[in-house]
Amino acid sequence: MWNNIIGQQRVIDRLTAIYNSGRISHAFLFSGDAGTGKDAVAVEFAKLLNCTGIVNSESCDKCKNCKSISSLKHELLNFVCALPSGRPEQSQQNILESLSQTDYQNFLTELNKKSRNLYYRMSLPNANNIRIDSIRELVRKIYLSHSGKTRKVFLISEAEKMKQEAANALLKVLEEPPGNSVLILTASKPEQLPQTITGRCQKISFEPLPVDKIIENIIKESETNLDFKFTQEEIKLASNLSSGSYSRTLDLLNYGVKELRETCLNFMISFLKNDYAELVSICRNLPDRTDKDKPKYLLYVLKTWFRDLLTIRYSSGNHQPLSISNTDLRDRLTAFQKNYPATDIFKIILLLEDAEKMLGQNVHPEFILTDLSFQMQSLIK
Ligand SMILES: [Zn+2]
Repeated sequence: MWNNIIGQQRVIDRLTAIYNSGRISHAFLFSGDAGTGKDAVAVEFAKLLNCTGIVNSESCDKCKNCKSISSLKHELLNFVCALPSGRPEQSQQNILESLSQTDYQNFLTELNKKSRNLYYRMSLPNANNIRIDSIRELVRKIYLSHSGKTRKVFLISEAEKMKQEAANALLKVLEEPPGNSVLILTASKPEQLPQTITGRCQKISFEPLPVDKIIENIIKESETNLDFKFTQEEIKLASNLSSGSYSRTLDLLNYGVKELRETCLNFMISFLKNDYAELVSICRNLPDRTDKDKPKYLLYVLKTWFRDLLTIRYSSGNHQPLSISNTDLRDRLTAFQKNYPATDIFKIILLLEDAEKMLGQNVHPEFILTDLSFQMQSLIK
């Protein structure tokens, strides 16, 4: 049911209208920031297309088809995502069978978490690309005949993780789409997809979620999930910093949002005060190579600081203060702008984005942060 979706009323209205018109495209591209509900909406749309108990253009969440789709493990909804590379000696009949035992177990655990909460961001170590084998498997399955009453949905999550070879394999399907199937590609960086792919999809864009909707839903979740113990203050801070992303809010909470932001501030203070002992300790105390996400979030929170600084800089003199993410640090941001008025904020934001890219390329976080601190130091003035 659309009730399971946070916000996105415009998207829901559009998909409902498409459903009611009976003219359903063979391929969709859902684009928008991570954590705005693209996968979740794709699953709900798959239910709408296959539900046997529809009332007022809404799926029922009770029939066999709705339940099968919710499991994310049924042929009515084929979930395709980036996977670690498989064992070369395995036959490629089934992509999951090619994974090592650990990767396979990990995948099932993560998929179960996602089926329970469609906003959950799956975390699979070394799953950097959508493998060509996954797309070949999709192509095989999409041409298998099935009952005319149902519509098989193929959801390619984070489709920009397809490399050229995988994208080419998918292109063949997009050129001659078989009946009774719908492909939904979700992407937070759709510009990284080849134009030949995006040009063949109906595009639906997702807006960032309003902070109050995120807070409301996190509180709702914390009431039913006993492992979920965050204070109101933490929930508010994480939601404010999330740029309208539900999954980013969850990640920020799980990484300890208050501590994470404190580390960001200390990181800047240490190099501005030339306190290298403190700087080295911060860069060293980051998790090792296997946990790239915590340093990624450290860079992300730093970016919110500089984006806010930009807002503060250009809103001075405005009667109505413009909204910022670090709402509780407005005074500190104002003081920072006063003390370092010539800071090259744009260049710093670009540096932070480059550093994030390097983290994805297996460069050690300690090296990235140390290098970043030296470069930032010369730009803060
Ligand atoms: Zn149903």
